[in-house]
Amino acid sequence: MSSPQSIGRFAPSPSGPLHFGSLLAAIASFMQAKHKGGKWLVRIEDIDPPREVSGASATILKQLEQHGLWWDDDVVYQSNQVGHYFEILNYLEGQYLTYNCSCTRQRLISLKGIYDAKCHGQNLSSENTSVRLSISDSIKATGMANDRIKFYDLIMGDYAQSLIETLGDFILRRRDGLISYQLAVVIDDHLQGITEIIRGFDLIDSTPRQILLQQCLGYKIPVYAHIPLAMNSLGQKLSKQHHARQLPQNKEQEQLWLALNWLQQQPPTELRACSVDDIIKWGITHWDISKIPCTTTGISAPKSFYTA
Ligand code: GLU
Repeated sequence: MSSPQSIGRFAPSPSGPLHFGSLLAAIASFMQAKHKGGKWLVRIEDIDPPREVSGASATILKQLEQHGLWWDDDVVYQSNQVGHYFEILNYLEGQYLTYNCSCTRQRLISLKGIYDAKCHGQNLSSENTSVRLSISDSIKATGMANDRIKFYDLIMGDYAQSLIETLGDFILRRRDGLISYQLAVVIDDHLQGITEIIRGFDLIDSTPRQILLQQCLGYKIPVYAHIPLAMNSLGQKLSKQHHARQLPQNKEQEQLWLALNWLQQQPPTELRACSVDDIIKWGITHWDISKIPCTTTGISAPKSFYTA
């Protein structure tokens, strides 16, 4: 039955072509939305030029099409959204939920990554400083009980994190003027009406920060599911740094089948020889997110998808 309320998304950063690990996130988010008769949107997260690889966005979109992962609506490029991000940042500043921070990276390292709010209340100028969200002020403004953010993950179950103990006030705008991933992703998920976010387990510890921002901005909190990570034989998450291979062309059927199998959807062996369209149709019909294993240590990827 069609449920127009269900809207999923895939939000790759254009730091390289898709590999097996990123294909899994694309397929899982696509299947979850389409199984419910919903929409699946694609957003290119291109607001960090130093990490961008030229041509990667076009390659990713082509790879999605070749795997039969057709998106609804126009692709959103975050680089076109920067004006919105600054409007929302100004709003948060106007609510006294942020402050400028001049602390260096070295100081943060000496604090073991848990920021101690040293610049809070110092009214530093916005020049050559970053902007941080004040967790304590956000808690007061939203009426939350404390800094422990809890949510139920459709795959991993209950998850909770104390933001002050594990992280401290976090950056919304970097010193170099770039908007942080945490702020941009929350604004776009809201603007695109995303109801379910399915992505890799490596992002689960970003979710509490995103939920706090959603609370501060009065946004609806989407449903979250984090899929286990695909690992190489050295126990490293598949990534460009860890020897992931670019997905080869003309093997899309095989890759789709292997991905559905890895996600423990139990695709029948005969499906392996079918067309991309048939595999996608089978996947949509039989998709069952509850079959994806709840493991925080990852699952080995088939050997052909990496070189290590
Ligand atoms: N752009 C992020 C990445 O490629 C994913 C963002 C998200 O799914 O929230 O790692």
